[in-house]
Amino acid sequence: MTQSIAMALHGGAGVLMPGVLTPDDEQAIHAALLQALKAGVDVLEQGGSSLDAVQASVVELEECPWFNAGKGAVFTHKGDHELDAAIMNGANLEAGAVAGVHHVRNPICGARAVLEHSEHVLLAGEGADLFLSEQPDLEHVSNDWYDTPLRRRQWAAQQQQPETVLLEPGGVEKKFGTVGAVALDRQGHVAAATSTGGITNKRYGRVGDSPLIGLGTWADDRSAAISATGHGEFFMRTVVAHNIASRIRLVGSSLADACEQVVQGELKDLGGNGGVVAVTPSGETVLSFNTPGMYRAWRDAEGGLHTAIYAEDDRLHAV
Ligand code: ASP
Repeated sequence: MTQSIAMALHGGAGVLMPGVLTPDDEQAIHAALLQALKAGVDVLEQGGSSLDAVQASVVELEECPWFNAGKGAVFTHKGDHELDAAIMNGANLEAGAVAGVHHVRNPICGARAVLEHSEHVLLAGEGADLFLSEQPDLEHVSNDWYDTPLRRRQWAAQQQQPETVLLEPGGVEKKFGTVGAVALDRQGHVAAATSTGGITNKRYGRVGDSPLIGLGTWADDRSAAISATGHGEFFMRTVVAHNIASRIRLVGSSLADACEQVVQGELKDLGGNGGVVAVTPSGETVLSFNTPGMYRAWRDAEGGLHTAIYAEDDRLHAV
């Protein structure tokens, strides 16, 4: 018996309030979110796996300069880009991740290569770059390929004001632009993927939650698939993704309650800003965040495709 599909994605959470973005920017972001959602939903509708679907959506978001992943990744302190990504298959708990890589055009494809072609889960830095360079199917770019004028301006501003964290269009206050996707396929399997440039001006090989399995990314058919976005140091200490999944599997919480308890409870109590997208094998879909906004998109149970930026936002698109 085939079952229904589900999909949700994010493009980062943060201080996204009406007025920060121009109407043209908003329009461009809605269009980019919709395109990424469609890429994943197309895979699912054709009977493809949730793993392929989340990868397809994240590739679209990595290619879009609006988001802090792939093209448009933020700058490190020394002025280059270090990319992190992870992907996980809920059917068998296989996972692959890369951290601090410099040349793979689509870091999520690098994470998938680790999952499929290595005996490891997470490869980092130079070793990861070497492994990825040996993979015949991956495209490689020079590190400045990820540059965008916006990120360069944010980096320059950050160096004037080291106490602020600038990761998003608008250039003020704390905003984040990591991307991620979760999906349920017709076979009943869930998957999750997350990709990021991390935080602007990061140094010393800083790695956040995104590529860490169970923190920024988790998928398990016994509970849910989860992709997180926000201030990684807080997500790491509250083990956000696996924390949500454990409440479902061990305590019997609904996905909505589990997300609420972690995102609005533990995470927020510690001072962590951000959110998650999540789906269960029964098709429950939750997008939860404790920030004024989160770039996001989802497919509803009737097949309607939605995109949103601000908390109260919900734009339904004709299919
Ligand atoms: N979680 C990411 C990190 O800390 C940032 C983000 O989600 O925007 O690297």
